[in-house]
Amino acid sequence: MTFIGLLAVTLAIPAAAAPGSNGPLPTSAGWVTQTLVANGAATAVQRDGYSVTEAPPPPPPPPVVVPAATNVFARTADTFTNNPSSPIQWPFTTGVPISDGFGPRVAPCGGCSSYHKGMDMNPGQGTPIQVVAEGVVTVAQASDNGGLGVYAEIEHVIDGQRITSVYGHMLEGSLQLTEGQVVTVGEQVGNVGNTGTSTGAHLHFEIHVDGAPIDPYAWLTAHVLP
Ligand SMILES: [Zn+2]
Repeated sequence: MTFIGLLAVTLAIPAAAAPGSNGPLPTSAGWVTQTLVANGAATAVQRDGYSVTEAPPPPPPPPVVVPAATNVFARTADTFTNNPSSPIQWPFTTGVPISDGFGPRVAPCGGCSSYHKGMDMNPGQGTPIQVVAEGVVTVAQASDNGGLGVYAEIEHVIDGQRITSVYGHMLEGSLQLTEGQVVTVGEQVGNVGNTGTSTGAHLHFEIHVDGAPIDPYAWLTAHVLP
C-alpha cells in the first residue's frame, strides 16, 4: 500500500514538477490523464511479493467470514475441476485463476525470493478456502506478523508420505482452525485475504513432501480424483 502510494506520487511528478515552484500549477486535466495511465497499467494479477502498478485500491472492507457452504466465488477459471467426493481436493471447490506457479522466477521485488515455493490462487478476497485432505493442524497463525500473514499448516499422511499443506495470506479474523485440531477434507481453513507480504488478495498455497516444497498444482492434479 505504501509503495503504491509512492508510485502514484512518482507518476504525478511529470505534471506537477514544473521548473520553479512558482510555475503554473498543473491543470486538473493533467492529473486526470496521469490517473488514467496508472489505471491502464493495472493488471488483475495478484500474488505475493509482486509489485503491481495500479491506482490505490479502495479501503479494504471489514473482515467478513463467508461460510464455505455458500461457495461464493468472485472469480473462477478453468484451471482445475474439483471433485467434492475425492479424499484429496483442491483448496477451492471451483477452478480459480492461478497467477504464479511453483519454481524459479524473476524476483518480483528487492528482497523477494527468486524461487516460489507454492502457487498463487486468485478467486478474490473473502473466498472460502477448504482443507485439502484429512490431517492435523500444526500451525494456526491468526494474526498478521508479516511473511505469510494469517496462515495455517496442516500435516497429512498420504500414501505413506508426510505431506504438509500451507495456506497463506488469509483474511484477518477468518482463520477457522486451531493447532492440534484434527480436520477432514472440505472443512473451512479461512478466507482469501491480503495479509503478510502480499500486494493483493490471493491464496499462497504450498505442498511439502517430508518437509520439502514441491509443485502443488502437479501434486493436486495427480491426487484429486477425476
Ligand atoms: Zn505465492
